[in-house]
Amino acid sequence: MKHSFLLLLLLTTTLPFISSEHWCYQSQDECEEQCYGPSKWHTVYAKCGGNKQAPINIVTKKTESNPKLKPFTFEGYDRAQDVLVKNNGHSVETALPPGVRITGAGLADAYKALQFHLHWGSDGQAGSEHTIDGERYPMELHIVHLKEQYHREEEAVNDAVGFAVLGFLFEESGEDNPSYKGLIDALGRISHYGFNTTVKDLRLDDLIPKQEDLARYYRYEGSLTTPGCNEAVVWTLFEKPIPLSRAQLTAFSQKLFFNTGKPMERIFRPVQQAHGRTVYRSSSSSVLASTAVLSASIISTLGFWSFQFLDLTR
Ligand SMILES: [Zn+2]
Repeated sequence: MKHSFLLLLLLTTTLPFISSEHWCYQSQDECEEQCYGPSKWHTVYAKCGGNKQAPINIVTKKTESNPKLKPFTFEGYDRAQDVLVKNNGHSVETALPPGVRITGAGLADAYKALQFHLHWGSDGQAGSEHTIDGERYPMELHIVHLKEQYHREEEAVNDAVGFAVLGFLFEESGEDNPSYKGLIDALGRISHYGFNTTVKDLRLDDLIPKQEDLARYYRYEGSLTTPGCNEAVVWTLFEKPIPLSRAQLTAFSQKLFFNTGKPMERIFRPVQQAHGRTVYRSSSSSVLASTAVLSASIISTLGFWSFQFLDLTR
């Protein structure tokens, strides 16, 4: 009896702290909010302390070329659709309708798109989750896909390749990117937690670089970058960044707020240890058929990667 009372006491005193809304980013943790920042996630969500966590810093000179990493086949990315965009308290998230899927690119299965969301910094400054040779980009787009055999996310969390997440980095450019106008205009309508709105005629193809620029990417096995941090993700990080103007990048942290009313800024998890994992890089020459074009491609590919190596030596 005494033991059950103690157990009940323990449950009632600990359960409120295990709420899914109780984790937060470092920007909230340091503001004396009662929440668990990234350095404490593992105390509540044990998997966050695992050894296949994401994001990571990609050291380009240590990546291994993998000829199986051919270009993706994208389906439904070219379809204009009305999508629901919401402030989920941790980011801006857009649910994607059925029929959007990816195959190829060294993936053993087809994956269907569920949603996309973004990670950003403060006022357009460094805010990507992955870093490349230590460089953090201003923002990062994640398009989350679920292995086609599963119906719900819960079914995939114990499969090391249950999800395929496509990650795109952003870079600051001198002019507005017109393809992002609809999404950025919508931010003002979902400033607060729980708000949602519709963005009309959104095409995923317009949000990401052109297909010919998507043959170069990095690949590794990791985790979800928010609690519960399940190690169930095939990660793809594309080399070509998406350009946005400073004003467009800044709009995210200026127009959106956490449920506490504080600006939604620096919403990225710090990079995690690789723990010996190999990061592979794609071979981009497979898209071209003729010998002449193939040779040109090999030269440009070699040029591209040697440029990457040269860049490292600075
Ligand atoms: Zn993400």
